[in-house]
Amino acid sequence: MNIVCFEIENWESGTLQEACCGVKECNMVKTPLSLDNIDHYASAEIISCFIYSDLSRSILEKIPNLKLIATRSTGTDHIDLEYCNSMGIAVANVPSYGEHTVAEHVFALLLGLSRHISQATHRTREGDFSFAGLQGFDLFGKTIGIIGTGAIGRHVAQIAKAFGMSVLAYDIDPRTNADLSYVDLKELLSQSDVISLHIPDTSQTRNMLSEKEFSFMKDGVVIINTARGSVIDVKALFGALKSGKVGAAGLDVLPEEPVIREEAELLRESFSQQHDLETLLTDYVLLHQKNVIVTPHSAFYTKEAVAKILQVTAQNIVAFMAGKPQNIVNTSQIDKRKVMQ
Ligand code: NAD
Repeated sequence: MNIVCFEIENWESGTLQEACCGVKECNMVKTPLSLDNIDHYASAEIISCFIYSDLSRSILEKIPNLKLIATRSTGTDHIDLEYCNSMGIAVANVPSYGEHTVAEHVFALLLGLSRHISQATHRTREGDFSFAGLQGFDLFGKTIGIIGTGAIGRHVAQIAKAFGMSVLAYDIDPRTNADLSYVDLKELLSQSDVISLHIPDTSQTRNMLSEKEFSFMKDGVVIINTARGSVIDVKALFGALKSGKVGAAGLDVLPEEPVIREEAELLRESFSQQHDLETLLTDYVLLHQKNVIVTPHSAFYTKEAVAKILQVTAQNIVAFMAGKPQNIVNTSQIDKRKVMQ
């Protein structure tokens, strides 16, 4: 089968080839799949990507023999699933690869903010060892509100408890055995000193924190988002930071994130038609706020988690080729006869 893996670093290439042992025609490409390079890969039957490839209908239509998309992520919101379902293209994901990895990053962001780590580091590098303006706050005794208590949210709760924090939880599907205090969203928003988001990007979760929700929160609340950029209305967040309602924010994800990665995109003629210019500009302004830490969607990015992602992706590809597909997210929607042709 013709297999192309996009968004692959050199060191990943060897690991993936090795894990896919036996799959000789595996083509490793450093760049994301896009309109610019699709013509080179139109004969692909299996593709593997991370989340910055363009997997919209207009691109997928140009790969007529495509049978499997093996995404190296848990989320599939970057893939046009409706089109895949209609064409019998199977989509395999990595269902879990390091819930503790992302949960640890939540606390990297939170401690970074509570102890002004980046300002302090910058200061000592300049030879200034004064601590004026660096007074932080304890996590001990504070309340953290966790929105979404799936794999990652539950690990965040565990770590928070070890810090001596009280934990409030909100989930559309509360787990009764999770040893968590579930409350409704409004109560969580009004009682929490720190709010951390762990929900997927769906039509229901888009802009879940917007102007109204910020108005319910305590003054000076800290917001941590490692979920997806779309779950917070960034313009409302910016307003809340300006007014002091939000004291600080740690963001691993931003809306329009793929575009921010490519600053050159700003220069493209079609730019304003394709993207929300106001949201993008707000992203840029947020990046430069003192009380905001932004990381480049790197919460998942540890040695251990990446190794697991590559291993499971390789297994997904090998299993699919052996006629025993695994980790397929759209099994019930696709026409299985088409998939295995
Ligand atoms: P999960 O599926 O295990 O948990 C998601 C939880 O959200 C579930 O408990 C679900 O019931 C709940 N939920 C869904 N819709 C909801 C709604 N409308 N209201 C309230 N709760 C709702 O997912 P996970 O593995 O814990 O991942 C959580 C998020 O983290 C996902 O968005 C994922 O894309 C993101 N993520 C980010 C990174 C990163 O590097 N930043 C890495 C992995 C995952």
